[in-house]
Amino acid sequence: MLKITEIFHSLQGEARDVGRPTVFIRLTGCPLRCVYCDSEYAFYGGDWMHIDQIMEKTASYQTQYVCVTGGEPLAQKRCQELLDRLCDADYRVSLETSGAIDVSRVDERISRVVDIKTPGSGEVERNLWANLDVLTTHDQIKFVICSRADYDWAVAQIRNRKLQQKLDILFSPSWGQQDATELADWVLQDRLNVRVQMQLHKLLWGDVPGK
Ligand code: SF4
Repeated sequence: MLKITEIFHSLQGEARDVGRPTVFIRLTGCPLRCVYCDSEYAFYGGDWMHIDQIMEKTASYQTQYVCVTGGEPLAQKRCQELLDRLCDADYRVSLETSGAIDVSRVDERISRVVDIKTPGSGEVERNLWANLDVLTTHDQIKFVICSRADYDWAVAQIRNRKLQQKLDILFSPSWGQQDATELADWVLQDRLNVRVQMQLHKLLWGDVPGK
């Protein structure tokens, strides 16, 4: 059984599969409290669901892409079992995770989208840097940028840890906090090899749950 906040069908708003119709499985609970969190409603509540029920609901949308998200999905131990089941059923699976929990045991068929928490998030101390050692080009890391200070910090991490050479890096402007055009200009000025991404679902539908 897993505690589930919602299962819904939408367009992937971020990362490599942006724009693809995707089933989102949002697990309840997160041990972090990022200042910009847009899924606080997933911290508490939710419904217990058997993994068979989750698989059935996912199949009902007839979509190849599945994103397991939260909250922090890996905070529930049974999440690994769900991820394995989804891969075995031949879905294209991505996992959105905070970067604060070990991702080394996640099935290698899954594309892990791992946050690197910036100082502006309020949770920079939670970064589990050892995660970077197990990620491959099949995975992605994401910085949510809240300010110029966050940007400079992220660039320093990328350069000092030589991340550009080995990982696909995403920069997202913190919604309502960091101007996206300004962020794009900084990236171009610095000749940075990262992808600036907007949250497509918010541009289309606004900041509403279940979209
Ligand atoms: S890790 Fe994600 S879900 Fe948890 S508080 Fe931060 S933004 Fe919200």
